[in-house]
Amino acid sequence: MGHWNNGSWDWKFKWRRPLRAWEEENLQQLLETIKHIKLVQGATDTWCWSLETGGRYTTRTAYVQLAKKEENRLLEYTKIWEAQVPPKVSAFSWQLLLDRIPTKVNLAKRGILDATQNIKCFWCDQLPEDTEHLFLACSTSYNLWTKCLNWWGLYYVLGNTCIDVFTQHRWHRGSKSLKKGWGMLWFTVVWSLWLSRNETAFQHRKLDEDRLFELVQARSFHWVRNLLNLENFSYMEWISNPVRCLTNRI
Ligand SMILES: [Zn+2]
Repeated sequence: MGHWNNGSWDWKFKWRRPLRAWEEENLQQLLETIKHIKLVQGATDTWCWSLETGGRYTTRTAYVQLAKKEENRLLEYTKIWEAQVPPKVSAFSWQLLLDRIPTKVNLAKRGILDATQNIKCFWCDQLPEDTEHLFLACSTSYNLWTKCLNWWGLYYVLGNTCIDVFTQHRWHRGSKSLKKGWGMLWFTVVWSLWLSRNETAFQHRKLDEDRLFELVQARSFHWVRNLLNLENFSYMEWISNPVRCLTNRI
């Protein structure tokens, strides 16, 4: 984990595998956070609550800190409005992160569906259709996210919540275009999932996972060209390597 160097501790981390790009950023954040902490050679470690000068835990400081975190979370939600996506998609995504879209579970909570009605997912018919299930956990959604990651040449563990995955899409190493395109992909996926779910729900259209993925590719191509004004690549180039299409562009 590190060694002493002239009375100060130098961190030296060892990893079982090479770090992914976003993990390297997390590591930099961690090092930035701990760089002001002075370790004392020979001293014994003890627990202390850093939010109180005396080091003793108090519920008051814990509450204040948690409230701040909630503010940060809300701040993260507001990034929705900075994205260059159609306004109806921003509005939908805002509702999605606040868990206010009319999934069956939400309709049941509001009393629109009663206890006798089926609240299971339209696609798998196994688990209740709540937001996290519909957009992440259902095999259909999970498969779609996985296909998108493979398509972009990325391999990582998908976040547990919609906001986690939204956050994962807020960062990508490389050009601004690449960052914007990667951010846009999150919107494309959740919007396409919602439209597809509504086709199943209201038009009884059988779900076709391959078609759903192709729709994401086509929709993202359209948005990247028309909303980000990036046009120097063909559809075939886009579906074969979106990262190359967006790399080295301002
Ligand atoms: Zn399902």
